[in-house]
Amino acid sequence: MSRTRSHEIFQRALELMPGGVNSPARAFGGVGGEPLVFERGEGAYLYDVDGNRYIDYIGSWGPMILGHGNEKVRAAIHAAVDQGTSFGAPTERENQLAELIIDIVPSVEKVRLVNSGTEATMSAIRVARGFTGRNKIIKFAGNYHGHVDSLLVAAGSAAATLGVPNSPGVTPGTTADTIVLPYNDVAALTETFAKYGDELACVIFEPIVGNMGTVIPKPEFLQAMRDLCTQHGAVMLMDEVMTGFRVALGGAQQLFGVTPDLTTMGKIVGGGLPIAAYGGRADIMNHVLPAGKVFQAGTLSGNPLATAAGIATLSILKETNPYPRLEQLGERLMTGLAKAAADAGVPYSVARVGSMATLFFGAGPVVDWDTAAQSDTKRYADFFWGLIDRGVYFPCSQFEALFISVTHTDDDIDATIAAAQEALSA
Ligand code: PLP
Repeated sequence: MSRTRSHEIFQRALELMPGGVNSPARAFGGVGGEPLVFERGEGAYLYDVDGNRYIDYIGSWGPMILGHGNEKVRAAIHAAVDQGTSFGAPTERENQLAELIIDIVPSVEKVRLVNSGTEATMSAIRVARGFTGRNKIIKFAGNYHGHVDSLLVAAGSAAATLGVPNSPGVTPGTTADTIVLPYNDVAALTETFAKYGDELACVIFEPIVGNMGTVIPKPEFLQAMRDLCTQHGAVMLMDEVMTGFRVALGGAQQLFGVTPDLTTMGKIVGGGLPIAAYGGRADIMNHVLPAGKVFQAGTLSGNPLATAAGIATLSILKETNPYPRLEQLGERLMTGLAKAAADAGVPYSVARVGSMATLFFGAGPVVDWDTAAQSDTKRYADFFWGLIDRGVYFPCSQFEALFISVTHTDDDIDATIAAAQEALSA
């Protein structure tokens, strides 16, 4: 399998962009070697610039739940392009996307559209602070909420993969009000509320973590968080940028029956175009300017192309209910990978919710950052390259979830399992 063209393009990229990329998660820092350069995606497949085909389990890190190039989404974008790409003024499509979100996610009574998950979490934290008049926030080690300064503490995703969970350039002052706790630790949460309860603006969390690999919350952890936030008047801020419209149409909150006060959404909500959202209780959201006084704005927010893609994507998900099928595919894949690891005598643990999952190399079970960090990242790197050589594109870090799309077939899954068997026994 030649990767000559990828190599040439990436060498040039290194001269042009820091590390040759526009987002560090793409740089293969967790597995070594050079990233592949892609030319096109079609359904479940990606094609690199050397003409190699890969079964794609990244889906652009989550958005492409319908696979690449869904016909209806493409048609919606094409139609929108012809009407104009940005007006900086209200459009009816913003209403349509907002209505869809509010209809699908019952805890969201009002919503604001932004351009990235980072903007969504940054803005939601600001509103939580403006609403409560409090400063302190709780986040969990290994959870990633975008590159918001105050949240770049013990962060997951590329920050964890590349060893900069606390980034230079983020001042101690910016993070002074951020309290970091271990995920799934009810006692730590309870103690912190006992100590700082009346100073806490919010708790921000991934309801299923994807950014230290997939980590599933204990039901008592989510319940304790809900109860403590209510008792102490803190905002429960569920970051569903990854899980929203992924683990169920209504996200993790629907799956687990937990109602947050604010929710952030991204990825799938834009169907592969740059759009994200935050929303929740109307009494909180009414604090956002110009209804209230908490400032938040954006030149391209509610962009016509992005809303068109988002409306098409959410409408398809609502109409077709692909979640039972995604569950089947996820089950088939992870059962097969677990068997491949067991047959190869490799210690492993599997975490999966529907179509998002991780095969951890190591004893497991993984419940928080400390247990995730014990994974055998060297073995993951070998596994990753073994899969690449066999035409399968997995996350380029042990600490990232894989995603399956509705366009993956049983044959794709079986081919992936066969590739994994070979890679693990090589
Ligand atoms: N929140 C979560 C849970 C995420 O997974 C991510 C990105 O991976 C973000 C926020 C940030 O989103 P974006 O990359 O669109 O800024």
